Amino acid sequence: MKKIAVLGSTGSIGTQTLEIVRQNRDLDVVALAAGSSVEKMEQQIREFSPRIAAMWDEKACRDLRERVADTDVKVLCGMEGLLEIAVMEEAEVLVTAIVGMIGIRPTIAAIESGKTIALANKETLVTAGHIIMPLAEKKGVSILPVDSEHSAVFQSMNGENKKRVQKILLTASGGPFRGKNRGELKNMQVEDALKHPNWAMGRKITVDSATMVNKGLEVMEAKWLFGVDLDRIEVVVHPQSIIHSMVEYEDGAVMAQLGMPDMKLPIAYALFYPDRRPMEGKRVDFFQLGTLTFEKPDMETFTGLKLAFAAAKQGGSMPTVYNAANEKAVHLFLERKIGFMQIPELIEASMERHRIIERPDVEEILQAERETYEFIGQVVN
Ligand code: NDP
Repeated sequence: MKKIAVLGSTGSIGTQTLEIVRQNRDLDVVALAAGSSVEKMEQQIREFSPRIAAMWDEKACRDLRERVADTDVKVLCGMEGLLEIAVMEEAEVLVTAIVGMIGIRPTIAAIESGKTIALANKETLVTAGHIIMPLAEKKGVSILPVDSEHSAVFQSMNGENKKRVQKILLTASGGPFRGKNRGELKNMQVEDALKHPNWAMGRKITVDSATMVNKGLEVMEAKWLFGVDLDRIEVVVHPQSIIHSMVEYEDGAVMAQLGMPDMKLPIAYALFYPDRRPMEGKRVDFFQLGTLTFEKPDMETFTGLKLAFAAAKQGGSMPTVYNAANEKAVHLFLERKIGFMQIPELIEASMERHRIIERPDVEEILQAERETYEFIGQVVN
């Protein structure tokens, strides 16, 4: 039995992780955590019988306690709950599928206590990669990527000499607005941004795909996960989302991982690594596909991607500001308080006013996040 804990169990990655558990009875769920979705959490507790369940929201937490009073589960609230799950003795693997920077502290705590991390929560590495990666190395902890692109890179590096990597080629679908110009993007509404052509994901990451900020975050995630310089990471737009990413080696060989766009594959790969498990679902039919196409990303239109490279290059606390400004702006966009193009504009404005801290500690990262939120709160009212 492999014992896993899932932070963000009610979300897109969380529920797909639990689907894999349903199909593989040698996985045991020892803890679950979510924000405020009480009903879903109650169902999950009744189905998977975890020892601990945590809700971020205080009211949801009290509500959950009453609902599951007839079970043995221990219900915890807020950060205390996330941290207790992160370090609980029974858990071997922590799946970090929370959305946003809230995942930093639990991820650090889990590494400190020697857990393997199945990492979906890319914002954690983007903002605190300089803390998390050296700590994981010191503790001998594996950080296994769940993000499909990073899983593809990871799979393409299996058995290879990492010193011979020339380039990481991160593929991008281009999102729902690929090919549009700035004028057209101005009028895009929430419904348009939420229509991803290939992937069904949570709302925040779906908007991030439409702005291409998601790819920007993935570039930063790749830099930390694989320890490569920024100028060795290239984004390749590949609208069919069949090649999930590639690695070019010094001899010119390119290794790629292909598959249908289904997040269950990279999630299962992280859960069972180095094994692979049988999985149902559609297979790549090359004859039906006919062609796979590739384009350069349009960074003049999708400035969110360009800003990500700038933030990563400047380093220190700048990626935190990039990420925090995006989180806040996406939230405002989903509430229809700002237009689509204001998302990258707010990121840029936040970056321009920020004074970089070279190697921020967790407190300084969270402080930079708060300051960015406050700044955007003042600009948009
Ligand atoms: P969702 O919005 O679908 O789910 C987020 C999950 O986190 C929910 O369970 C939510 O609970 C929970 N949550 C939110 N805030 C808190 C909090 N403060 N404390 C505890 N739990 C919280 O997101 P996704 O599953 O799409 O994405 C999760 C992460 O994985 C993100 O970092 C994303 O970038 C990354 N990712 C996602 C992919 C995808 O295909 N979806 C692909 C690759 C990476 P509640 O339901 O109660 O709000």
